[in-house]
Amino acid sequence: MENVKDLDPEIYALVKQEEKRQSDKIRLIASENYVSLAVLQTTGSVLTNKYSEGYAGKRYYEGQQIIDQVEQLAILRAKDLFGAEHVNVQPYSGSPANIATYLAFLNPGDTILGMALPHGGHLTHGAQVSISGRYFDAQSYELDAMTGLLNYDSIRKKALAVRPKILIAGHSAYPRILDFARFRAIADEVGALLMVDMAHFAGLVAGGVHPSPVPYADVVTTTTHKSLRGPRGAMILCKAKHAQAIDKAVFPGVQGGPHDNTTAAIAVALKEAASESFKEYAAQIVKNAKILAESLMAKGFTLITNGTDNHLMLVDLTNKNISGKEAAKALDKAGVVVNYNAIPFDKRKPFDPSGIRMGTPALTSRGFKEKEMYLVSDFIEKVIANPNNEMLLQQTAEEIRVLCSKFPAPGLEHLCKAVVQQ
Ligand SMILES: *Cc1c(COP(=O)(O)O)cnc(C)c1O
Repeated sequence: MENVKDLDPEIYALVKQEEKRQSDKIRLIASENYVSLAVLQTTGSVLTNKYSEGYAGKRYYEGQQIIDQVEQLAILRAKDLFGAEHVNVQPYSGSPANIATYLAFLNPGDTILGMALPHGGHLTHGAQVSISGRYFDAQSYELDAMTGLLNYDSIRKKALAVRPKILIAGHSAYPRILDFARFRAIADEVGALLMVDMAHFAGLVAGGVHPSPVPYADVVTTTTHKSLRGPRGAMILCKAKHAQAIDKAVFPGVQGGPHDNTTAAIAVALKEAASESFKEYAAQIVKNAKILAESLMAKGFTLITNGTDNHLMLVDLTNKNISGKEAAKALDKAGVVVNYNAIPFDKRKPFDPSGIRMGTPALTSRGFKEKEMYLVSDFIEKVIANPNNEMLLQQTAEEIRVLCSKFPAPGLEHLCKAVVQQ
């Protein structure tokens, strides 16, 4: 970063502060991670200088000798890893990938059916504030009030009632595995396309610890930067018969030139995701989540669905007499970074809901295992019981900084060494 330091000391200082924050804190945001140095370096490569609107062999500008190979390699690796018939690696991020999928198959006003936002669905699954809710007739299904689980019979009923053109499965905050065969059957019964948005759990699918939606879905969308641990970007995986519609919808439908530096970094991340060590990482994410969930429940915390099968958990703090936002703010001061989150049928407002969401991908990437997860739950218990004890929050932050320094994340090793030397 020497050049940045000289040219722009303000941004340099901010990047250094963010490095320190990422190094010193227990990061439990379920959608975040630490990418490898190889992914970081590729993201920052000169591929950022190229324009390549179009697809390999059919570009609008010359000079694609190298970029075509990069993109084809990324596509090939994604097809191999997920067993997909066709892959588009150009979406700028998860939201544009979903919007492109709608553009491929829908006209304005057509009906989509997805999981309600307050129940764990994503904005782009039909929330009213999103283009997906504004331009389409967006219908939603909810979780079961008693169990907090998806109720496939009621999803089927809703689908029969509203007859969506696209049925959407996938979530940002649901701690259980989805029944893709059941979703497929419902889609078939009502003549809908099935779209699965695996943004959150794609890394678990790649690592073989979560069933794959690819055999069941017409279209699978995913971000590349969550559990999959790649650069910020997205992919659309689909059946061969939808290839042309999807490609046309991404470009020229929604986007212009792809971000070739990102495409290359996606290829690197996919190579990593095909390795044995990635399988261990994926299995450890799930183990860590289970241990953290069990240990929090043993301390009297209420978990939606009483646990987790995947990388994330949703904690209902109602019985702890603290709101999700107060808890998240206190935890952050103490060095534990989570997000406040609505729980199903939340009685509080979305901007200050009853829950917090936590996920284990980032901690797993820096080497936290079962033993450390018990420590994490101890920290959380202490902070939630004393959210206004500034002294305790500060002491906890320091303890956490020392613990974290034993688990250096890629690119942050120098910071961890500095802590150990103090
Ligand atoms: C994160 C997420 C997205 C959107 O990804 P962005 O890259 O933030 O646009 C889409 N769908 C789901 C289910 C997500 O969790």
